[in-house]
Amino acid sequence: MTGTVYKSTGSWYQVKSDEGKFYQCRIKGKFRIKGIKSTNPVAVGDRVEFKLEDNPSEEEETGVITGIKDRENYIIRRSVNLSKQTHIIASNIDQAFLLVTLNNPPTFTTFIDRFLVTAEAYGIKAILLFNKIDTYKDEELDEVKYLAAMYRSIGYECLGTSAKTGKNVDKVKEMMKDKTSMISGHSGTGKSTLINTIEPKLDLKTMHISEQHRQGQHTTTFAEMFDLDFGARIIDTPGIKGFGVVDIEKEELGDYFPEFFERKQDCKFNNCLHLDEPQCAVKEALEAGEIPWSRYKSYLQIIKGEEDQSYRIDNYE
Ligand code: GDP
Ligand code: ZN
Repeated sequence: MTGTVYKSTGSWYQVKSDEGKFYQCRIKGKFRIKGIKSTNPVAVGDRVEFKLEDNPSEEEETGVITGIKDRENYIIRRSVNLSKQTHIIASNIDQAFLLVTLNNPPTFTTFIDRFLVTAEAYGIKAILLFNKIDTYKDEELDEVKYLAAMYRSIGYECLGTSAKTGKNVDKVKEMMKDKTSMISGHSGTGKSTLINTIEPKLDLKTMHISEQHRQGQHTTTFAEMFDLDFGARIIDTPGIKGFGVVDIEKEELGDYFPEFFERKQDCKFNNCLHLDEPQCAVKEALEAGEIPWSRYKSYLQIIKGEEDQSYRIDNYE
């Protein structure tokens, strides 16, 4: 049988068969996947082959996972201990929504850009939802419009929403339909409210939608997938700062800024880091106002390995 992993609790995996029935499954012996060393061989989101076990005495039908299909993508975290083992948080994610609010709490462009870079590196489509649109005054609406236009020009989908009044929530639903989504954003940006507006009967107490603020190092993580009634899946990743981690080499960082990447071929040096090199097409575009300074600032912050200083563009005109 074929199915999708919805939950993993240590040695048991909850698998939903393509026919729509849930089974508790295990893996037997040394189940290893080529290519990646991780503490967990099977992750939430994995498409698996499994066969049912012969145990008529048990109330629940159980199964054994016999194979995993290639992952479209996956997000990881590093284990807390020093062995630096990788743990796969979730896989086969179609898209990640980032809830952005200007105030209460403020979401800074450096934060947005770090999120987008990680999404690019993981190969996950990212969408920006500017939430709490009902609370903004004209000036703030101008800022939202500015930011949305900027990120759209780079190629990211943006939408103004109000999880509270329901504005554009139907559009979010449309985007989510038949897909597996993650919903991220700082605490207080409206993730629970949005999900509640979309699907009121989903038990939010059991959900811990991914929070992008700093978490203790020792948070244990059990991702879980939920079905929404209108035919969508969301992956909840408690205790994950955004997307988890991803190692990005200095040399490849620019490739995850799409507007840098498309200009890279015009830089004099093909290994240009867009810093102080002569005839750098990225810096020329920056000077010409074709690349926003906030994006370049984020790039510098990441390449220098600095912590997010939560830079915010104040003069966005
Ligand atoms: P989470 O931490 O991201 O899950 O945020 P919550 O969903 O708990 O929302 C935090 C607060 O913001 C709550 O008081 C919500 O009622 C409020 N809130 C969420 N979305 C909106 C919105 O679109 N408009 C307004 N006015 N308030 C919102
Ligand atoms: Zn360059």
